[in-house]
Amino acid sequence: MTIVQQAADDQAKRELPVIEHWIDGARRASASGHTAPVFNPATGRATAEVALADAADVAAAVASAERGFGVWSGYSIAKRQTVLFAFRELLNARRHELAEIITAEHGKVLSDAAGEIARGLEVVELACGFPSLVKGGFSENASTDIDVYTLKQPLGVTAIISPFNFPAMVPLWFFPVALAAGNAVILKPSEKDPSAALWLAALWQQAGLPDGAFTVLQGDKVAVDGLLGADAVQSVSFVGSTPIAQYIYEEASRAGKRVQALGGAKNHMLVLPDADLDLVADQAVNAGYGAAGERCMAVSVVLAVGDVADRLSARIQERIRALRVGNGADAAEPDMGPLISASHRDKVHGYVDIAEQDGAEIVVDGRGFTVDGHEDGFWFGPTLIDRIPTSSRAYAEEIFGPVLSIVRIDTFQEGLDLINSGRFGNGTAIFTNDGGAARRFQSEVQVGMIGINVPIPVPVAYHSFGGWKSSLFGDAKAYGAHGFDFFTREKAVTARWIDPARDDHRGINLGFPQND
Ligand code: NAD
Repeated sequence: MTIVQQAADDQAKRELPVIEHWIDGARRASASGHTAPVFNPATGRATAEVALADAADVAAAVASAERGFGVWSGYSIAKRQTVLFAFRELLNARRHELAEIITAEHGKVLSDAAGEIARGLEVVELACGFPSLVKGGFSENASTDIDVYTLKQPLGVTAIISPFNFPAMVPLWFFPVALAAGNAVILKPSEKDPSAALWLAALWQQAGLPDGAFTVLQGDKVAVDGLLGADAVQSVSFVGSTPIAQYIYEEASRAGKRVQALGGAKNHMLVLPDADLDLVADQAVNAGYGAAGERCMAVSVVLAVGDVADRLSARIQERIRALRVGNGADAAEPDMGPLISASHRDKVHGYVDIAEQDGAEIVVDGRGFTVDGHEDGFWFGPTLIDRIPTSSRAYAEEIFGPVLSIVRIDTFQEGLDLINSGRFGNGTAIFTNDGGAARRFQSEVQVGMIGINVPIPVPVAYHSFGGWKSSLFGDAKAYGAHGFDFFTREKAVTARWIDPARDDHRGINLGFPQND
């Protein structure tokens, strides 16, 4: 780059808006002065710079959250509930604004962005009913004249670290529950699409949440490590790739924090010979290429049992050749948008190269795909790979792109063994009309979330979300009963109120207290 080009670049960077932190109920510039570019993936152009926190920013965020916790945890249950209901109403009414923000920074099409908000709203609605979920229990006269009861109290300052692929829904899996339980939240969103978090922070303020109870700390590893090292941060809820999930789990545990860390995935769809192949083809395409495959519950491998593979492959090809790929914000809404970044597109390209080198058949090839008028966007066309060897890295590793692979197998048992031998255990699905096979599958498969003729089995808000094996570190899943357990600390109280009319409660007895 010449000096002139460098100067032009610097000038352009200076003119981009800066996406700041949200601390003490207001946007706050970063002390560090460091920023990273945020792109519109459909145009490939930088649209903003995001602040990258340093240690001083982390300290300011944590101090504000501690103050916010002091105020918010003192609100009565009724007052907290009023704020949650107000937030629900505002989010519901203004969801289209948020969808546009998501599409502009993530690239997913608007209807898909609206879908992630709808699934996040479910958790807000669950959290609105929190009083019955955090009310503890009471046992009158557990022992003679003694009552025993439990209190569920908030933890304090809680941290949420989220991935790029669901900039609204993944934070919404956690913060409505954390706040309902009386905690303060510091959200560290992905630096690739950080605006949704700021928008949500302003909405909380409008709903009546006291300043400091919801903080947004923008940044990268420095921000994350700062939160892991902050004594006041009591818990960490992480969602992202497996290596980082493992790192977060280990570091947060070492620091004595409560931690739930959800990682990557490689989800298989097992198709038995009796399945309805048109239904299977529809669902494989929806679950494989929706959001350009950038979903932790995307289907990335179809295990075709017996003689179904040729017929199924033909039906899938027919459907994916008709998919419209383009800018998700366009009025004639396409089916699928771009990938998040140029480097991620190159990584996906690399995996298709690996599959080819390992002897797989590239039936539909999305490498080199572009969209007219948006040639600089981060495009990758829908790709179908057949006969992928299970020894290939492209089979075993998470690709996180619009790439669906078919593995041809002979039996149900072979499929079950393949799924169970993988390192991930996030989601899986079986397609069949045989109830006995489906029942055996749900019982024996080593995966946390299972679909029966349902391709993306994301549980509703009152059940909990989480995988097994390298897809979840820690023992608490997101939302549902797990969420409320994670974000509360229980106390058991044993109480005796002395009856002045009786004297048998008094006297010395050094024996261990027994129940009577
Ligand atoms: P990522 O792991 O790169 O980043 C996630 C978060 O961690 C971001 O906030 C990022 O800033 C931070 N981070 C990145 N590198 C770090 C480091 N070295 N140290 C500390 N923090 C770091 O993940 P991503 O690319 O944003 O998201 C995609 C991944 O998330 C995929 O693997 C996908 O399967 C996974 N995911 C899983 C679930 C689930 O529920 N299991 C849901 C959504 C996404």
